[in-house]
Formats: sequence, structure tokens, C-alpha cells
Amino acid sequence: MSVRGSLVAVGGGGVFILILLGILYATDQQHLLAYALIGLIVVFGSASVLLWITRLEQETRRLDELDHLKSEFVSRVSHELRTPLTTIKALTRLLRRGGVSEEKQREYLETISIECDRQIDLILNLLDLSRIEGGVFRLAMERVEVADVVTSCVKAETAAAERRAHTLRVEPIENVPPVRADANHLRRVISNLIENSIKYTPDGGLITLSADAGANQVAIRVTDNGQGIPKEDLPILFDKFYRGRPVVPLMAGEVASTNEELLEDANMSGVGLGLYLARDVMRRMGGQISVETEVGKGSTFTLQLPIWTAEISEKIASEVKENAKATAGS
Ligand code: ADP
Repeated sequence: MSVRGSLVAVGGGGVFILILLGILYATDQQHLLAYALIGLIVVFGSASVLLWITRLEQETRRLDELDHLKSEFVSRVSHELRTPLTTIKALTRLLRRGGVSEEKQREYLETISIECDRQIDLILNLLDLSRIEGGVFRLAMERVEVADVVTSCVKAETAAAERRAHTLRVEPIENVPPVRADANHLRRVISNLIENSIKYTPDGGLITLSADAGANQVAIRVTDNGQGIPKEDLPILFDKFYRGRPVVPLMAGEVASTNEELLEDANMSGVGLGLYLARDVMRRMGGQISVETEVGKGSTFTLQLPIWTAEISEKIASEVKENAKATAGS
């Protein structure tokens, strides 16, 4: 019998015996009251121990889940680091052996470069995670032109989108004021959203970037017509290590094996840090990230950032001065 079961049995049994004793031996009202009081104490005592055990069980379950997530994360990271290295090694061996046509050489070098970028991205994400957890994550806030950042992200992701036959489109970004952000980190957040759209959209999809300005904020949107995200996963979408279940629907005329390949692709690459870091960085920049999505139809991720104003500019200048003073004084 479990500890919980034993407690219920002991508590229930105790109360039953007390009631029996009360009925058999209580000679007057005072005795009856005393038995009732002891009965109540036994009931409350058992109830509090039960509550304590339930909490302990919940905490143990939570720690077990965390432990499981962490070991899954470590094995995923190892896999994500090993796979590109295996490809790089194999292609380097082929190139060194010689006799490879010029076209193939170019193709291999391109793949090596892509795999290196994948590794760099993962390592940068891991470094960010460790800086955030260690409380030493820093941003360099500045005046950022939205069109410049979006264009450079699209340029960097075009080849990856083409490999999956996606169309990567930027809607004209006009009359959008500059924002207050850390340009490098904003670029990484947007690139990550585009990479997700590439990964989680069946081949031949459409990925669109757009931006518009509100009263105090600028919104940057990344929209795809991919697999979408199930509603029940939305509360945990931005959690650390969250990875969705692949829900890639078959496209018209597509054969199952192609879809399985896609499923495997969506399943294998990634460690569940991108959206967690995106939300954290957006909040630190005074902005936010949100999503609108429908399974089988696609997703739109929206980044909102404060518009750069003269007031903000002065504030940042004085922060920089303060920091410089503090550094000189230490
Ligand atoms: P990763 O891509 O490494 O798994 P992320 O934190 O970037 O980690 O994303 C978490 C999960 O959110 C993904 O595993 C995927 O299930 C889901 N997801 C993110 N972006 C999209 C998207 N554009 N379309 C569908 N699902 C997405």
C-alpha cells in the first residue's frame, strides 16, 4: 500500500475506533466531547500530512520533468553539434581526395559554410542562455533602422529558404521610424523567426516580412503558411527547451515519404531555445513578442519595439556616461 493509502487507512481507522469508543464508554457529554475532539485532531492531522505528501509528490514530479528535459536538451545539443561536424568532415575528406568537379567543389564549400553557421548560431544561443542564467547578459541599446535590419536578415536567410523552395518576401518598409534596440540581438531574433518559418513550413511555402508603426511602437512581423502551432501548446511556446510535436500536414499530391523526411527534419534540428531567447531579449529591449497561429494554415510572429525618440537618446547617453564613470571609479 502507498504512504498516502496507509495514512487514509490509519486516519479513517482511528476516527472509526474513537467513534466506537465514544459510543461504548462515554458516560456523559464531556467524555463524548473529548472523544469527538480527539477524532477531529486525528482527521486534521492526517489531512495536513496528506497535503504535505501531495505537495512533495508534485515537487518531485516537477523536478523529474526538469531533469528529463535537461537530459533531453544535453543529448539534443550533442546531436546538433555532432551532425554538422560529421558533414563538414566528410565533405572536407572528399575535397582533399581531389578529382571533384568545380561545380561539386562549390556545392560542398557552400554546405560546409552553412553547417559552420548552424554551429555558430547554436553556440551563440548557448552562450546567451548561460549569460542570462548567470545574470551577466548585456545589451547595447542604440538607434536602429528597421528596414536595414530586416533586409540584412532576409539576405542572410535567402539561400536557406531557396533550398526548401520557399519564397521569402519583404513588403515595402516605408515611413517606419527607427527603434530603440540592440541591433545584433534584434537581427538574431528576426533571423531565428525566419529560420523557424523555413523549418516548420512544407517545401514551397511563402514567408513574408513586414513592418508598420503605431503610436509609440514599431511592429515587425514574420508570417508563414506552414504547419502552425496547436492551441494547447501556446502557453508553453516560449518556455525554455520547448519543442513542438511535428504536425506537418501532407500537401496536395505529395507522397508520404517526402512528408516523413520533412517531419524528421522538423523533429531533428533545433534545441528549443530560439523562442525562449527571443522573448527574453525582446523584454530586455522594452518590447515584446507575440504569435497568431492556426494548425495547417500558418503563423505570424510579431515583434514590438519602442520607437526611438530624442528623450530615449538622452537617457541612453546619460546611462553610457554613468557607466563610464562607474568603470573609471572602480
Ligand atoms: P527549435 O526550433 O529549436 O525547436 P524554438 O524555440 O525556436 O526551438 O521553437 C520552439 C518550437 O515552436 C519549435 O520546436 C516548433 O514546434 C514551434 N515553432 C516555432 N516557430 C514555428 C513556426 N513558424 N511554425 C510552426 N511551429 C513553430
